[in-house]
Amino acid sequence: MMDCIFCKIIKGEIPSSKIYEDEDVLAFHDINKAAPTHFLVIPKKHIQNANEINSENSKIIAHIFEVISKITKDLGISESGYRIVNNCGKDGGQTVNHLHFHVLGQRELKWPPG
Ligand code: AMP
Ligand code: ZN
Repeated sequence: MMDCIFCKIIKGEIPSSKIYEDEDVLAFHDINKAAPTHFLVIPKKHIQNANEINSENSKIIAHIFEVISKITKDLGISESGYRIVNNCGKDGGQTVNHLHFHVLGQRELKWPPG
């Protein structure tokens, strides 16, 4: 995916503030924080959004949630709590077309979201 900014981050062509990386996933701080802790977890393989999750690639989703569980403990927000968000498509507010999970914490979040 030549024009995908998250694929460029994975390749190191665009800098990012990395928190965690392994063979399959990357986590980095969101450039435009919506909470004092706000990071993104993405699969290294380009998947456009939640509509593209299927039996062939769904293992990565479980792995992403394992990684979130580890990172939130490392960052000390597992006890206070946090929110995991996936925006899908236009109505979901997706602006980057590479599957990503937002993790927001360190402030009390409102519900429902706007
Ligand atoms: P979404 O609106 O769910 O597609 O979220 C895309 C997120 O990517 C937004 O919260 C942006 O602030 C974030 N973002 C865009 N470009 C970068 C970047 N170069 N580094 C870190 N986060 C980014
Ligand atoms: Zn991509």
